[in-house]
Amino acid sequence: MKTVKVNIVTPDGPVAETDANMVIAVTESGEIGILPGHIAMVAPLKIGALRLKKGDATEHVAVHGGFLEIRPDVITVLAQSAEMASSIDLARAQAAAKRAEDQLRAKKDTQEYQMAELGLKRAINRINVYGSRAR
Ligand code: ATP
Repeated sequence: MKTVKVNIVTPDGPVAETDANMVIAVTESGEIGILPGHIAMVAPLKIGALRLKKGDATEHVAVHGGFLEIRPDVITVLAQSAEMASSIDLARAQAAAKRAEDQLRAKKDTQEYQMAELGLKRAINRINVYGSRAR
């Protein structure tokens, strides 16, 4: 089975350097499945799970926005933050979700509200990706 290299990079450093048979990403214009040899393109990413198909296994990575750069032999994800399912701290994500929900209820100004909404989306994404570890 053919593979494509996958590099996931954040300002804190590399999160993953691996090979996959297929990558599924949530872009601003919808979910795409990328196979080795895909034509070059760049797409903005949503907060969501990046799925790396490796044989019969699927690894999940929580990705929080950023960009996807596709070249035929390498896929690069540049994100403000990203975590492999195995490195997610569930209690921290649950606490972040609770904090964001409290802020949303407190009816802050528009900018604070939007920040809290994004924080909640990141926390929910981490909780979902954590839950997909064993799948
Ligand atoms: P928190 O409020 O818990 O910091 P956040 O969504 O504001 O969450 P980010 O700004 O997206 O956090 O990330 C800051 C750093 O902390 C990044 O390196 C990110 O990978 C890491 N991080 C955040 N939450 C978690 C988590 N639940 N498990 C593991 N790493 C996390």
